[in-house]
Amino acid sequence: MIPVFEKAIPVLDHIEKAGYEAYFVGGCVRDNILGREISDIDIATSATPNEIKKLFSKTVDVGIQHGTVVVLWEKEAYELTTFRSDGEYVDFRRPSEVTFIRNLHDDLQRRDFTMNSIAMDKKGNLIDPFKGFHAIKNKTIETVGDASERFHEDALRMMRAVRFVSQLQFSLEQNTYQALIKYGPLLEKVAIERKTVEFEKLLRGKGKRHAIQILVDTGLFKYLPGLLHDQRALCNLTLLEIDSLTEDEIWTLLLYLMEIPINSCDGFLRQWKLPVKKMKQISSVLQLLHNRFYHNWTIERLYHSGLEEAIHTEKVFNVIQHQPVLKEISTIEKLYSDLIIKDRQELAVTGNDLMKWNNEDGGPWIKEQLQFIEEAVLSGRVDNDKDKIREWLVECNQM
Ligand code: ATP
Ligand code: MG
Repeated sequence: MIPVFEKAIPVLDHIEKAGYEAYFVGGCVRDNILGREISDIDIATSATPNEIKKLFSKTVDVGIQHGTVVVLWEKEAYELTTFRSDGEYVDFRRPSEVTFIRNLHDDLQRRDFTMNSIAMDKKGNLIDPFKGFHAIKNKTIETVGDASERFHEDALRMMRAVRFVSQLQFSLEQNTYQALIKYGPLLEKVAIERKTVEFEKLLRGKGKRHAIQILVDTGLFKYLPGLLHDQRALCNLTLLEIDSLTEDEIWTLLLYLMEIPINSCDGFLRQWKLPVKKMKQISSVLQLLHNRFYHNWTIERLYHSGLEEAIHTEKVFNVIQHQPVLKEISTIEKLYSDLIIKDRQELAVTGNDLMKWNNEDGGPWIKEQLQFIEEAVLSGRVDNDKDKIREWLVECNQM
Protein backbone atom coordinates (compact mmCIF):
# COMPACT_ATOMS: atom_id res chain seq x y z
CA MET A 1 0.00 0.00 0.00
CA ILE A 2 1.30 3.46 -0.82
CA PRO A 3 2.47 5.71 2.05
CA VAL A 4 -0.51 8.11 2.00
CA PHE A 5 -2.82 5.20 2.76
CA GLU A 6 -0.40 3.56 5.21
CA LYS A 7 -0.33 6.74 7.20
CA ALA A 8 -4.13 6.68 7.53
CA ILE A 9 -4.41 3.05 8.61
CA PRO A 10 -4.27 3.89 12.35
CA VAL A 11 -7.40 6.02 11.81
CA LEU A 12 -9.26 3.04 10.31
CA ASP A 13 -7.88 0.79 13.04
CA HIS A 14 -9.06 3.12 15.76
CA ILE A 15 -12.59 3.19 14.34
CA GLU A 16 -12.69 -0.57 13.86
CA LYS A 17 -11.46 -1.23 17.41
CA ALA A 18 -14.43 0.76 18.66
CA GLY A 19 -16.69 -1.66 16.78
CA TYR A 20 -17.48 0.31 13.63
CA GLU A 21 -16.50 -0.14 9.98
CA ALA A 22 -14.24 2.19 8.02
CA TYR A 23 -12.96 2.18 4.43
CA PHE A 24 -11.06 4.35 2.04
CA VAL A 25 -13.49 5.47 -0.62
CA GLY A 26 -14.11 7.72 -3.62
CA GLY A 27 -11.47 9.67 -5.51
CA CYS A 28 -8.48 8.35 -3.54
CA VAL A 29 -9.28 4.72 -4.33
CA ARG A 30 -9.93 5.58 -7.98
CA ASP A 31 -6.74 7.62 -8.32
CA ASN A 32 -4.71 4.91 -6.61
CA ILE A 33 -5.91 2.33 -9.13
CA LEU A 34 -4.95 4.76 -11.89
CA GLY A 35 -1.55 5.44 -10.37
CA ARG A 36 -2.40 9.12 -10.14
CA GLU A 37 -1.32 11.38 -7.33
CA ILE A 38 -3.88 11.35 -4.53
CA SER A 39 -5.27 14.74 -3.58
CA ASP A 40 -7.17 13.89 -0.44
CA ILE A 41 -8.14 10.81 1.50
CA ASP A 42 -11.84 10.25 2.04
CA ILE A 43 -12.96 7.66 4.52
CA ALA A 44 -16.47 6.19 4.76
CA THR A 45 -17.56 4.80 8.10
CA SER A 46 -20.53 3.22 9.80
CA ALA A 47 -19.93 5.45 12.85
CA THR A 48 -22.10 8.55 13.05
CA PRO A 49 -20.47 11.99 13.22
CA ASN A 50 -21.07 12.13 16.95
CA GLU A 51 -19.56 8.71 17.45
CA ILE A 52 -16.51 9.81 15.44
CA LYS A 53 -16.18 12.95 17.54
CA LYS A 54 -16.11 10.84 20.67
CA LEU A 55 -13.36 8.64 19.21
CA PHE A 56 -10.92 11.37 18.15
CA SER A 57 -9.61 14.28 20.12
CA LYS A 58 -9.06 16.63 17.17
CA THR A 59 -12.01 16.98 14.83
CA VAL A 60 -13.52 19.77 12.76
CA ASP A 61 -17.17 19.94 11.80
CA VAL A 62 -17.26 20.68 8.11
CA GLY A 63 -20.61 19.34 7.02
CA ILE A 64 -22.07 17.50 9.91
CA GLN A 65 -25.59 17.61 8.42
CA HIS A 66 -24.22 15.57 5.50
CA GLY A 67 -22.34 13.31 7.86
CA THR A 68 -18.85 14.67 7.30
CA VAL A 69 -16.31 15.32 10.03
CA VAL A 70 -12.63 16.07 9.48
CA VAL A 71 -10.28 14.16 11.75
CA LEU A 72 -6.80 15.53 12.35
CA TRP A 73 -4.33 12.74 12.88
CA GLU A 74 -0.52 12.99 12.87
CA LYS A 75 -0.63 16.36 11.12
CA GLU A 76 -2.89 15.04 8.35
CA ALA A 77 -6.57 15.81 7.80
CA TYR A 78 -9.00 13.07 6.81
CA GLU A 79 -12.59 13.54 5.74
CA LEU A 80 -14.76 10.96 7.42
CA THR A 81 -18.27 10.58 6.06
CA THR A 82 -20.85 8.39 7.69
CA PHE A 83 -22.45 5.77 5.44
CA ARG A 84 -25.60 7.42 4.25
CA SER A 85 -28.44 7.06 1.85
CA ASP A 86 -29.57 10.34 0.45
CA GLY A 87 -33.14 11.24 1.31
CA GLU A 88 -35.64 12.89 -0.99
CA TYR A 89 -34.08 14.98 -3.71
CA VAL A 90 -36.04 18.20 -3.90
CA ASP A 91 -35.84 20.35 -7.02
CA PHE A 92 -32.91 18.40 -8.54
CA ARG A 93 -30.55 19.59 -5.86
CA ARG A 94 -28.59 17.86 -3.18
CA PRO A 95 -30.93 16.36 -0.62
CA SER A 96 -31.72 18.61 2.28
CA GLU A 97 -31.76 15.63 4.55
CA VAL A 98 -29.67 12.51 4.66
CA THR A 99 -30.19 9.29 6.51
CA PHE A 100 -27.26 7.68 8.20
CA ILE A 101 -27.07 3.96 7.62
CA ARG A 102 -24.79 1.17 8.81
CA ASN A 103 -24.38 -0.54 5.47
CA LEU A 104 -21.47 0.07 3.11
CA HIS A 105 -23.20 -1.30 0.01
CA ASP A 106 -26.00 1.27 0.21
CA ASP A 107 -23.49 4.04 0.76
CA LEU A 108 -21.62 3.03 -2.39
CA GLN A 109 -24.89 2.90 -4.28
CA ARG A 110 -25.67 6.58 -3.63
CA ARG A 111 -22.34 7.66 -5.16
CA ASP A 112 -22.24 9.24 -8.59
CA PHE A 113 -20.09 7.12 -10.89
CA THR A 114 -18.99 3.51 -10.71
CA MET A 115 -15.32 4.56 -10.68
CA ASN A 116 -16.10 6.59 -7.54
CA SER A 117 -18.04 3.85 -5.79
CA ILE A 118 -15.20 1.54 -4.81
CA ALA A 119 -14.23 1.08 -1.18
CA MET A 120 -10.87 -0.23 -0.01
CA ASP A 121 -10.25 -1.76 3.40
CA LYS A 122 -7.07 -1.28 5.40
CA LYS A 123 -5.51 -4.39 3.88
CA GLY A 124 -6.00 -3.06 0.35
CA ASN A 125 -8.98 -5.31 -0.55
CA LEU A 126 -11.47 -3.65 -2.86
CA ILE A 127 -15.21 -3.72 -2.25
CA ASP A 128 -16.57 -3.01 -5.66
CA PRO A 129 -20.21 -4.02 -6.12
CA PHE A 130 -20.77 -1.77 -9.15
CA LYS A 131 -17.75 -2.86 -11.19
CA GLY A 132 -15.90 0.40 -10.83
CA PHE A 133 -12.54 -1.28 -11.26
CA HIS A 134 -13.61 -2.51 -14.68
CA ALA A 135 -14.81 1.00 -15.61
CA ILE A 136 -11.48 2.48 -14.55
CA LYS A 137 -9.56 -0.05 -16.60
CA ASN A 138 -11.79 0.82 -19.58
CA LYS A 139 -11.43 4.52 -18.85
CA THR A 140 -15.18 4.89 -18.70
CA ILE A 141 -17.44 7.22 -16.74
CA GLU A 142 -20.80 5.62 -16.05
CA THR A 143 -23.36 6.39 -13.41
CA VAL A 144 -24.16 3.95 -10.64
CA GLY A 145 -27.59 2.80 -11.82
CA ASP A 146 -29.84 4.61 -14.27
CA ALA A 147 -28.20 7.79 -15.57
CA SER A 148 -31.38 9.82 -15.95
CA GLU A 149 -32.52 8.93 -12.48
CA ARG A 150 -29.13 9.86 -11.01
CA PHE A 151 -29.02 13.18 -12.87
CA HIS A 152 -32.55 13.94 -11.74
CA GLU A 153 -31.50 13.38 -8.17
CA ASP A 154 -28.56 15.75 -8.43
CA ALA A 155 -28.01 17.60 -11.67
CA LEU A 156 -24.52 18.68 -10.67
CA ARG A 157 -23.43 15.13 -11.45
CA MET A 158 -23.66 16.11 -15.13
CA MET A 159 -20.99 18.76 -14.64
CA ARG A 160 -18.95 16.31 -12.60
CA ALA A 161 -19.12 13.80 -15.45
CA VAL A 162 -17.66 16.30 -17.90
CA ARG A 163 -15.07 17.52 -15.41
CA PHE A 164 -13.87 13.93 -14.96
CA VAL A 165 -13.52 13.66 -18.76
CA SER A 166 -11.07 16.52 -18.50
CA GLN A 167 -9.34 15.45 -15.30
CA LEU A 168 -8.94 11.75 -16.10
CA GLN A 169 -9.23 11.79 -19.90
CA PHE A 170 -11.92 9.12 -19.70
CA SER A 171 -14.88 8.64 -22.06
CA LEU A 172 -18.55 8.82 -21.19
CA GLU A 173 -20.50 5.61 -21.39
CA GLN A 174 -23.31 5.85 -23.96
CA ASN A 175 -26.31 6.00 -21.60
CA THR A 176 -24.53 8.52 -19.40
CA TYR A 177 -23.73 10.65 -22.46
CA GLN A 178 -27.30 10.48 -23.80
CA ALA A 179 -28.65 11.50 -20.40
CA LEU A 180 -26.44 14.58 -20.46
CA ILE A 181 -28.07 15.65 -23.72
CA LYS A 182 -31.54 15.01 -22.39
CA TYR A 183 -31.30 16.43 -18.90
CA GLY A 184 -28.97 19.39 -19.37
CA PRO A 185 -31.76 21.88 -18.51
CA LEU A 186 -31.85 20.47 -14.97
CA LEU A 187 -28.50 22.20 -14.45
CA GLU A 188 -30.42 25.46 -14.16
CA LYS A 189 -31.54 24.37 -10.72
CA VAL A 190 -28.01 23.85 -9.46
CA ALA A 191 -26.30 26.50 -7.34
CA ILE A 192 -23.86 28.51 -9.44
CA GLU A 193 -21.03 28.08 -6.95
CA ARG A 194 -21.17 24.32 -7.37
CA LYS A 195 -21.12 24.61 -11.17
CA THR A 196 -18.19 27.00 -10.97
CA VAL A 197 -16.15 24.59 -8.86
CA GLU A 198 -16.65 21.85 -11.43
CA PHE A 199 -16.03 24.15 -14.41
CA GLU A 200 -12.75 25.34 -12.93
CA LYS A 201 -11.66 21.76 -12.24
CA LEU A 202 -12.50 21.07 -15.87
CA LEU A 203 -10.28 23.96 -16.96
CA ARG A 204 -7.40 22.55 -14.91
CA GLY A 205 -7.66 19.06 -16.42
CA LYS A 206 -5.50 17.68 -19.19
CA GLY A 207 -8.49 16.81 -21.34
CA LYS A 208 -10.02 20.29 -21.18
CA ARG A 209 -10.42 20.71 -24.92
CA HIS A 210 -12.33 17.48 -25.29
CA ALA A 211 -14.40 18.27 -22.19
CA ILE A 212 -15.35 21.73 -23.50
CA GLN A 213 -16.33 20.11 -26.78
CA ILE A 214 -18.62 17.79 -24.82
CA LEU A 215 -20.20 20.78 -23.06
CA VAL A 216 -20.96 22.14 -26.53
CA ASP A 217 -22.10 18.87 -28.14
CA THR A 218 -24.42 17.94 -25.29
CA GLY A 219 -25.78 21.50 -25.00
CA LEU A 220 -24.78 21.67 -21.32
CA PHE A 221 -22.98 24.97 -21.98
CA LYS A 222 -26.37 26.69 -22.32
CA TYR A 223 -26.97 26.25 -18.63
CA LEU A 224 -23.68 27.77 -17.55
CA PRO A 225 -23.61 31.46 -16.60
CA GLY A 226 -23.45 33.85 -19.54
CA LEU A 227 -22.62 31.22 -22.16
CA LEU A 228 -26.04 30.64 -23.73
CA HIS A 229 -25.19 32.54 -26.91
CA ASP A 230 -21.52 31.75 -27.05
CA GLN A 231 -21.26 28.34 -28.58
CA ARG A 232 -18.86 29.70 -31.21
CA ALA A 233 -16.43 31.12 -28.66
CA LEU A 234 -16.36 27.78 -26.83
CA CYS A 235 -15.78 25.90 -30.09
CA ASN A 236 -12.97 28.28 -30.96
CA LEU A 237 -11.48 27.66 -27.55
CA THR A 238 -11.27 23.93 -28.29
CA LEU A 239 -9.42 24.67 -31.53
CA LEU A 240 -6.66 26.55 -29.76
CA GLU A 241 -3.60 25.08 -28.05
CA ILE A 242 -4.85 25.79 -24.52
CA ASP A 243 -3.33 22.74 -22.82
CA SER A 244 -0.67 24.63 -20.93
CA LEU A 245 -2.74 27.67 -20.01
CA THR A 246 -3.82 28.11 -16.39
CA GLU A 247 -7.52 28.33 -15.58
CA ASP A 248 -7.32 32.12 -15.21
CA GLU A 249 -5.57 32.44 -18.56
CA ILE A 250 -8.37 30.41 -20.12
CA TRP A 251 -10.97 32.68 -18.52
CA THR A 252 -9.19 35.62 -20.14
CA LEU A 253 -9.04 33.86 -23.48
CA LEU A 254 -12.70 32.93 -23.27
CA LEU A 255 -13.67 36.56 -22.60
CA TYR A 256 -11.54 37.62 -25.55
CA LEU A 257 -13.13 35.06 -27.86
CA MET A 258 -16.59 36.11 -26.66
CA GLU A 259 -15.64 39.67 -27.62
CA ILE A 260 -16.77 40.94 -24.26
CA PRO A 261 -15.84 44.61 -23.87
CA ILE A 262 -13.48 45.32 -21.00
CA ASN A 263 -16.13 47.18 -19.07
CA SER A 264 -18.56 44.24 -19.22
CA CYS A 265 -15.97 41.72 -18.18
CA ASP A 266 -16.71 42.02 -14.46
CA GLY A 267 -20.39 41.52 -15.10
CA PHE A 268 -19.75 38.22 -16.84
CA LEU A 269 -17.34 36.96 -14.19
CA ARG A 270 -19.65 38.06 -11.40
CA GLN A 271 -22.32 35.77 -12.81
CA TRP A 272 -19.94 32.90 -12.05
CA LYS A 273 -19.49 34.26 -8.53
CA LEU A 274 -15.73 34.20 -8.80
CA PRO A 275 -13.73 35.83 -6.00
CA VAL A 276 -13.18 39.56 -6.52
CA LYS A 277 -9.39 39.24 -6.58
CA LYS A 278 -9.57 36.68 -9.35
CA MET A 279 -12.04 38.79 -11.33
CA LYS A 280 -9.75 41.78 -11.10
CA GLN A 281 -6.78 39.83 -12.34
CA ILE A 282 -8.65 38.33 -15.26
CA SER A 283 -10.01 41.74 -16.36
CA SER A 284 -6.64 43.33 -16.01
CA VAL A 285 -4.96 40.66 -18.15
CA LEU A 286 -7.75 41.02 -20.72
CA GLN A 287 -6.99 44.75 -20.91
CA LEU A 288 -3.27 44.05 -21.35
CA LEU A 289 -4.09 41.48 -24.00
CA HIS A 290 -6.07 44.01 -26.04
CA ASN A 291 -3.13 46.41 -25.86
CA ARG A 292 -0.69 43.66 -26.74
CA PHE A 293 -2.10 43.47 -30.27
CA TYR A 294 -0.89 47.05 -30.85
CA HIS A 295 2.27 47.26 -28.75
CA ASN A 296 5.22 45.14 -27.84
CA TRP A 297 6.51 45.01 -24.28
CA THR A 298 8.54 48.00 -23.19
CA ILE A 299 10.18 48.80 -19.88
CA GLU A 300 7.27 51.09 -18.98
CA ARG A 301 4.57 48.60 -19.93
CA LEU A 302 6.25 45.84 -17.99
CA TYR A 303 6.78 48.05 -14.97
CA HIS A 304 3.11 48.98 -14.90
CA SER A 305 1.72 45.49 -15.54
CA GLY A 306 4.10 43.59 -13.27
CA LEU A 307 5.82 40.37 -14.33
CA GLU A 308 3.06 37.91 -13.55
CA GLU A 309 0.36 39.70 -15.50
CA ALA A 310 2.73 40.28 -18.41
CA ILE A 311 3.45 36.55 -18.59
CA HIS A 312 -0.25 35.65 -18.42
CA THR A 313 -0.92 38.15 -21.20
CA GLU A 314 1.88 36.91 -23.43
CA LYS A 315 0.87 33.28 -23.04
CA VAL A 316 -2.72 34.00 -24.06
CA PHE A 317 -1.47 36.24 -26.88
CA ASN A 318 0.79 33.45 -28.17
CA VAL A 319 -2.07 30.96 -28.13
CA ILE A 320 -4.27 33.31 -30.15
CA GLN A 321 -1.43 33.87 -32.61
CA HIS A 322 -0.84 30.12 -32.95
CA GLN A 323 2.67 30.54 -31.63
CA PRO A 324 4.46 28.38 -29.03
CA VAL A 325 2.88 29.30 -25.73
CA LEU A 326 6.16 30.25 -24.04
CA LYS A 327 7.50 32.30 -26.95
CA GLU A 328 9.20 35.49 -25.70
CA ILE A 329 8.52 34.64 -22.06
CA SER A 330 12.21 34.46 -21.20
CA THR A 331 12.78 37.79 -22.96
CA ILE A 332 10.06 39.34 -20.83
CA GLU A 333 11.58 37.83 -17.68
CA LYS A 334 14.99 39.24 -18.58
CA LEU A 335 13.56 42.65 -19.38
CA TYR A 336 11.75 42.63 -16.05
CA SER A 337 14.77 41.52 -14.03
CA ASP A 338 16.73 44.39 -15.59
CA LEU A 339 14.19 46.99 -14.44
CA ILE A 340 15.98 49.50 -12.26
CA ILE A 341 12.99 49.71 -9.95
CA LYS A 342 10.07 47.28 -9.81
CA ASP A 343 7.81 49.42 -7.70
CA ARG A 344 7.33 53.06 -6.70
CA GLN A 345 8.37 52.10 -3.16
CA GLU A 346 11.84 51.44 -4.51
CA LEU A 347 12.33 55.04 -5.66
CA ALA A 348 15.11 56.72 -3.69
CA VAL A 349 12.86 59.73 -3.03
CA THR A 350 9.51 60.00 -1.30
CA GLY A 351 6.69 62.53 -1.27
CA ASN A 352 8.13 63.88 1.97
CA ASP A 353 11.48 64.63 0.30
CA LEU A 354 9.70 66.52 -2.46
CA MET A 355 7.67 68.60 0.04
CA LYS A 356 10.84 69.44 1.94
CA TRP A 357 12.87 70.33 -1.16
CA ASN A 358 10.11 72.46 -2.65
CA ASN A 359 9.08 73.82 0.70
CA GLU A 360 5.48 73.20 -0.28
CA ASP A 361 2.49 71.44 1.25
CA GLY A 362 1.25 68.14 -0.08
CA GLY A 363 -1.15 67.98 -3.01
CA PRO A 364 -1.69 66.36 -6.39
CA TRP A 365 1.62 67.81 -7.60
CA ILE A 366 3.51 65.21 -5.54
CA LYS A 367 2.00 62.31 -7.45
CA GLU A 368 2.80 64.04 -10.73
CA GLN A 369 6.37 64.76 -9.78
CA LEU A 370 6.94 61.24 -8.47
CA GLN A 371 5.62 59.89 -11.75
CA PHE A 372 7.99 62.18 -13.63
CA ILE A 373 10.93 60.91 -11.57
CA GLU A 374 9.78 57.32 -11.86
CA GLU A 375 9.79 57.51 -15.67
CA ALA A 376 13.25 59.08 -15.70
CA VAL A 377 14.69 56.44 -13.35
CA LEU A 378 13.10 53.61 -15.33
CA SER A 379 14.46 54.84 -18.64
CA GLY A 380 17.90 55.41 -17.11
CA ARG A 381 17.89 59.20 -17.56
CA VAL A 382 18.73 59.61 -13.90
CA ASP A 383 20.20 57.26 -11.33
CA ASN A 384 17.95 56.07 -8.53
CA ASP A 385 19.91 58.10 -5.97
CA LYS A 386 18.49 60.83 -3.77
CA ASP A 387 21.16 63.49 -4.44
CA LYS A 388 21.30 62.77 -8.15
CA ILE A 389 17.52 62.99 -8.45
CA ARG A 390 17.55 66.31 -6.62
CA GLU A 391 20.21 67.75 -8.94
CA TRP A 392 18.36 66.44 -11.94
CA LEU A 393 15.09 68.05 -10.81
CA VAL A 394 16.88 71.37 -10.53
CA GLU A 395 18.34 70.92 -14.03
CA CYS A 396 14.89 70.21 -15.42
CA ASN A 397 13.51 73.31 -13.73
CA GLN A 398 11.23 71.14 -11.65
CA MET A 399 12.34 72.75 -8.41
P1 ATP B 1 -11.42 14.74 -6.64
O1 ATP B 1 -11.33 14.90 -5.14
O2 ATP B 1 -10.26 14.13 -7.30
O3 ATP B 1 -11.87 15.99 -7.29
P2 ATP B 1 -13.53 12.91 -5.99
O4 ATP B 1 -14.14 11.77 -6.76
O5 ATP B 1 -12.83 12.56 -4.71
O6 ATP B 1 -12.60 13.70 -6.96
P3 ATP B 1 -15.16 14.59 -4.37
O7 ATP B 1 -15.98 15.76 -4.76
O8 ATP B 1 -14.02 14.76 -3.45
O9 ATP B 1 -14.69 13.93 -5.72
O10 ATP B 1 -16.19 13.52 -3.77
C1 ATP B 1 -15.78 12.36 -3.06
C2 ATP B 1 -16.69 11.20 -3.42
O11 ATP B 1 -18.02 11.50 -3.00
C3 ATP B 1 -16.82 10.89 -4.90
O12 ATP B 1 -15.77 10.06 -5.35
C4 ATP B 1 -18.16 10.23 -4.97
O13 ATP B 1 -18.08 8.89 -4.54
C5 ATP B 1 -18.96 11.00 -3.94
N1 ATP B 1 -19.68 12.17 -4.53
C6 ATP B 1 -19.25 13.44 -4.60
N2 ATP B 1 -20.17 14.25 -5.14
C7 ATP B 1 -21.22 13.47 -5.43
C8 ATP B 1 -22.50 13.71 -5.99
N3 ATP B 1 -22.87 14.93 -6.40
N4 ATP B 1 -23.34 12.66 -6.10
C9 ATP B 1 -22.99 11.44 -5.69
N5 ATP B 1 -21.80 11.13 -5.16
C10 ATP B 1 -20.92 12.13 -5.02
MG1 MG C 1 -11.99 13.93 -3.27
